[in-house]
Amino acid sequence: MSEPVILSGKKFAAEVRKGLAREVEAVTGRPPGLAVIIVGEDPASEVYVSMKEKACRRAGISSRVIRLDGGVTQEELLERIEGLNSDPSVDGILCQLPLPDHISADTVASAVLPGKDVDGFHPVNVGRLWRGEDGLFPCTPVGIMAMLDHYGIEMDGARAVVVGRSNIVGKPMAALLLQRHCTVTLAHSHTGDLRDLCGRADILVAAVGRPRFITAEHVKTGAVVIDVGISRTEQGLCGDVDFEAVSGKAGAITPVPGGVGPLTIAFLLGNTVKAWKARRATS
Ligand code: NAP
Repeated sequence: MSEPVILSGKKFAAEVRKGLAREVEAVTGRPPGLAVIIVGEDPASEVYVSMKEKACRRAGISSRVIRLDGGVTQEELLERIEGLNSDPSVDGILCQLPLPDHISADTVASAVLPGKDVDGFHPVNVGRLWRGEDGLFPCTPVGIMAMLDHYGIEMDGARAVVVGRSNIVGKPMAALLLQRHCTVTLAHSHTGDLRDLCGRADILVAAVGRPRFITAEHVKTGAVVIDVGISRTEQGLCGDVDFEAVSGKAGAITPVPGGVGPLTIAFLLGNTVKAWKARRATS
């Protein structure tokens, strides 16, 4: 079997970010604005937030980080979101996860104005996604779809299996693949025949959070394999797919790192620019 095509999210994300920067630069007046709320002191969240700030700066997007003490009440947090909802300089709002246990992530997601919901977690955007309407949708699956298009992966009529049914990755991924006329199966921890199921997929998306969970036995020869997983192991960052073994069978595959990861921030910027353009068009 010949070498698989390596789907480089890193390269593609860099192109997307450059394109967004050009788009922002071409418009005079107020730049897009993103507000990121971070509650408490989670070191991983700090890293993600500083990566988002840096990416915004490079794309000409004005970003604001609001740091709240871990003891903040849900009501106080909702008041801050309300303030950002009515702030005309803010196009996108996101609340970095995880939140402390006393705060409901669902309540917070529902408090963000749907037009500023750049994470795509608001029930209105979730509904629009499943209805096939335009809206703001979760950045990771949106990025994966754009990358599949970029690499010319045929989706119409393809058999797609998504392993993992989270609201952040698995479910929106399934909805987007369905919109593109894939026959989609959404698998999870109660799925009985996972190996057989995955072995029939033309497009296999792994969003499980278990290092090297998908082996060569799960993969059909020539399949497109998208690895969303990121786990920290003693050997460094590791995906859900056993890259070495699966590379011998797949037709195309994303590496970890450098695959899906860079797409998430690029398409967060994309959603912010989309929200900004939509607000400009109506103001
Ligand atoms: P999650 O909320 O923990 O969901 C994991 C999913 O995997 C669940 O639906 C779970 O099924 C399923 N699962 C667990 N064990 C399974 C098994 N043995 N067989 C089949 N399915 C199984 O995780 P997530 O937020 O979607 O994230 C998944 C991974 O992607 C993580 O490694 C995360 O770090 C990574 N991630 C990466 C990016 C990026 O930018 N690259 C973005 C988001 C997430 P049940 O529903 O039945 O429990």
